Amino acid sequence: MAVRLSEEEIELVRESSLLVGKTLAEVARMIAPGAVTGKLDQLAEEFIRDHGALPGFKGLYGCPSTLLISVNSEVVHGLPGERELKDGDVASVDCGVLMNGFYGDSAYTFQVGTVAAETKQLLRVTQECLRLGIEQAVAGHRTGDIGYAVQHHAEAHGYGIVRELVGHGVGRKLHEAPEVPNYGRRGNGARLHAGMVIAIEPMVNMGGKDVSQLEDGWTVVTQDGKPSAHFEHTVAIRAGQAEVLSTFSYIEDVLKERGMPF
Ligand code: MG
Ligand code: MG
Repeated sequence: MAVRLSEEEIELVRESSLLVGKTLAEVARMIAPGAVTGKLDQLAEEFIRDHGALPGFKGLYGCPSTLLISVNSEVVHGLPGERELKDGDVASVDCGVLMNGFYGDSAYTFQVGTVAAETKQLLRVTQECLRLGIEQAVAGHRTGDIGYAVQHHAEAHGYGIVRELVGHGVGRKLHEAPEVPNYGRRGNGARLHAGMVIAIEPMVNMGGKDVSQLEDGWTVVTQDGKPSAHFEHTVAIRAGQAEVLSTFSYIEDVLKERGMPF
């Protein structure tokens, strides 16, 4: 049964979600060819702890890191380490924060140096999928309305929608009911009620939808080796229009300042 949060509780999710956005903006300052993913992770953890919060992922399900950084054909759940980002890479950076008893969850896919035009389009369309999904996230709709909107837009561009990983409720736990798939049929799935808070997170593959998990037990990769993109917002369900609690604006400010594309 999906949890509905009070206005006070939704404010706490917003504070955690905004700290995620600020943390991803710190990452944005460091995105460049040669950046080491383990260093980005260390920086993010320090930033979150300096703000009196806890990394949301670290320790959860045995997750060893603050960030999950998934490069190119890695879809999600890539583990930071000694890997250096290279010119032309795309890197999805997923981050969660736990503060005042409530989680926030957001992800952004960064361009490293000069990225191929077809990969830029994948990123743009995946962000559009997120926006279209959020448009459907209103009281009275169902999760299938979100999934349909995301899937329809991705597939219209010939892209594959990952089935194995889904969005989710967010609150006192990082993963609450309901599941929010990125595919589906209109009018199907869990009904959305005002006060529910969910993470919408399209994972869109340039090629086929099929994915595999690497032997590290974490990293999910595309089976065809083509790139994948991932954008995520935490949103509150309202009547008429969802309220986006996380934000990319801190990230975009940094990218703008650095003259980087977004
Ligand atoms: Mg996430
Ligand atoms: Mg999530």
